[in-house]
Amino acid sequence: MLSRRYQKLKQTLDKRQPDLTVLTEDVHKTHNLSAILRTCDAVGVFELNTINQHSQFPTFNQVAKGSQKWVLIRTQPDIESAIKCLQSRNINVYAAHLSEKSIDFRQLDYTQPTAILLGAEKWGVSETAANLVNGHISIPMLGMVPSLNVSVAAAVILYEAQRQRLAAGYYDQIRLDPITYQKVLFEWAYPELAKIYQEKLQPYPPLSNSGEIVSNH
Ligand code: SAM
Repeated sequence: MLSRRYQKLKQTLDKRQPDLTVLTEDVHKTHNLSAILRTCDAVGVFELNTINQHSQFPTFNQVAKGSQKWVLIRTQPDIESAIKCLQSRNINVYAAHLSEKSIDFRQLDYTQPTAILLGAEKWGVSETAANLVNGHISIPMLGMVPSLNVSVAAAVILYEAQRQRLAAGYYDQIRLDPITYQKVLFEWAYPELAKIYQEKLQPYPPLSNSGEIVSNH
C-alpha cells in the first residue's frame, strides 16, 4: 500500500457523514443508480440504502467510476422496513416527491440526521412510502417537463445538504465512530485480505500510520 494512497483513503473517510444517507425505491436503471452512487461518494455519504422489489438490483456501470467500492450499499427487503429501520436509528426520512405537502428542498435542515428517499424512474415514490416518511421535499420545476432525472434530483439535493454541513463544520471533524472507521479503513486499504479475515472470522490486524499491517507476532 502506497502511503500517498493510504492518506487519500483516510482523508476521504475523515469526511464521511454516517447520518446523511439516500434510500432508493426501485430505481432500476444501471446508469441512474451508478450516477447517484458517484454523487454520494463526492458528497461524503457513507451508505446508500436501496430496495428493488420489482427488479434485480442493477450492477454498476462505468458511470459509477468505481464509487460502489467507496459507498456502503445496504439492500433492504422492502420500503416499509427500510424507512422504519432508518427512523429507528433516529434518521428522518424525506421523500423527494412533488406533492401538496412538499416544501422547497432548500428549506430542510440537513445538519439533522437525514435520509433522502428517491423514487422509481417511471412511477416515482410509492404511496406507501409517501405516507411513512417524515416529510416531502421538492425541487422547483419552472419548465414544461414536470420532473428531473432521478440522479439529477439526487445531486441537487445532496449538494444542498453538503453546503449546509460544510457551513456547520461537519466536514472538519471525523464523524464515523472509531470502530467503524478502523474497520472500513482496513477494508478499503486491503479488500482481498479483509475477505480472508472475514472468512476466518478473525479481527483485522492494526495498521501503522503509513498504512502498513502491524504484525501481531
Ligand atoms: N412520473 C414520476 C412521478 O410522478 O414522480 C417521475 C419520477 S422522477 C423521474 C424519479 C424520482 O426523481 C422521483 O420519484 C423523485 O424522487 C425525484 N425527482 C425528480 N424530480 C424531482 C423534483 N423536481 N423534486 C423532487 N424530487 C424529484
